Amino acid sequence: MFLKKESTNKLRLHKKADSQIYIRVYRWNPHIQHKPWFSIYPILLNKCGPMVLDALVQIKNYQDSSLTFRRSCREGICGSCAMNIEGTNTLACLKVLKLKTKFITIYPLPHMYVIKDLVIDLTNFYSQYKSIKPWLVSENHTEKEQLQSKVDRAELNGLYECILCACCSASCPSYWWNQEVYLGPAILLQAYKWITDSRDSNTYERLDFLNHKMRLFRCHTIMNCSKTCPKNLNPGKAISNLKQQIIHLIK
Ligand code: SF4
Repeated sequence: MFLKKESTNKLRLHKKADSQIYIRVYRWNPHIQHKPWFSIYPILLNKCGPMVLDALVQIKNYQDSSLTFRRSCREGICGSCAMNIEGTNTLACLKVLKLKTKFITIYPLPHMYVIKDLVIDLTNFYSQYKSIKPWLVSENHTEKEQLQSKVDRAELNGLYECILCACCSASCPSYWWNQEVYLGPAILLQAYKWITDSRDSNTYERLDFLNHKMRLFRCHTIMNCSKTCPKNLNPGKAISNLKQQIIHLIK
């Protein structure tokens, strides 16, 4: 992945810096303490990698092994390190440690059930994902490869890149208050991807499933989802397209 010019400059500055910043992390462990608390860790910028995830890994390795968070690829591909950094839902591996501020505050993704520290419970999120049948349903039962025209393939751009990090869903007030019933922007973007895929023949059933006042139409077009997506996708637009397709279907 290529970093933007601005990020590259920040990295250069970062190497020269000899300053210290503090990482303030939300902590909660139901086995130790009923109430959550904050831990503050100093980080020497010239002894740490450039990203927030580097700082968290350094804290875990050298300062406090009890700090708990998810991470895997450190390349913005797996979506594991989604968290709220400085008030924005994003991926710790893509967020540059800023020099402007002395404190960086990190919370788990908001309005999600916390298992421990920065680790949230994604059980409901994945069962919602399962509910949209995230696989190709095709009438073509041959074992041959199903070809797609370049134009049809291009329709999936801006959809297939979703890594299911849940940053968008956890930024959506409708999802905060109704996550048992409202599918949320991440899952709806995924549903739209399967509906858009020219090889899938389950379009009517998929739209029929989504035609529900809570599953889809609980979206009030707040657009936090599109603002926060660390992959620069537009789930708000995908939801709007779904609503339009359903309205055309009913007409
Ligand atoms: Fe994450 Fe963006 Fe996909 Fe939402 S649309 S799950 S924020 S990658």
